[in-house]
Amino acid sequence: MKCPFCRQSNSHVIDSRLGKDGEMIRRRRECMVCSRRFTTYERVEEAMPMVVKKDGRREAFDRLKITNGLKRACEKRPVSMDAIEAMADRIERGVQERGEKEVLGSIIGEAAMRELHDTDAVAYVRFASVYRSFKDLNEFMAELEDLLNQRTNRAGPESPRKTGAARRARRKSAGADNPPTPPLAGNEPV
Ligand SMILES: [Zn+2]
Repeated sequence: MKCPFCRQSNSHVIDSRLGKDGEMIRRRRECMVCSRRFTTYERVEEAMPMVVKKDGRREAFDRLKITNGLKRACEKRPVSMDAIEAMADRIERGVQERGEKEVLGSIIGEAAMRELHDTDAVAYVRFASVYRSFKDLNEFMAELEDLLNQRTNRAGPESPRKTGAARRARRKSAGADNPPTPPLAGNEPV
């Protein structure tokens, strides 16, 4: 930090305190060349990019919109508000970590889909059906089947989180060359 008086960059901090709102640090510095004192402020850069909509409009990133979308998808599902906030946190962080000035709305939508996919199948399908506006029932069923297969595979031997149920299921199907894909019926209602 250059001294505002003599333009030399050797200074040391003689006092450092947090601003009233806790979002800023005020530092009192002393120039080691001319010994004059000056103050610097340090705050987190508000680096949320603008969201680019399908029609090209830009709007400010709005976390509330994401939280509301997730909440709607999780209505009457066993998903806690903490879980919803945690999903919104990860989506927000993901967007921020891209470090770009703009982000496509679809990237946020896809991130929300991934979060819901890992959280609650019904909430995911609800969100996906609105978000992707499936053209017809076949497309929708293909997506659903895909999802169910992925969930089945995740309980497989490669999964780091082996549940007792998964182990039992594997023992049961041991010996079968092609364990059957579970039918759609009998899974969670949509
Ligand atoms: Zn100076």
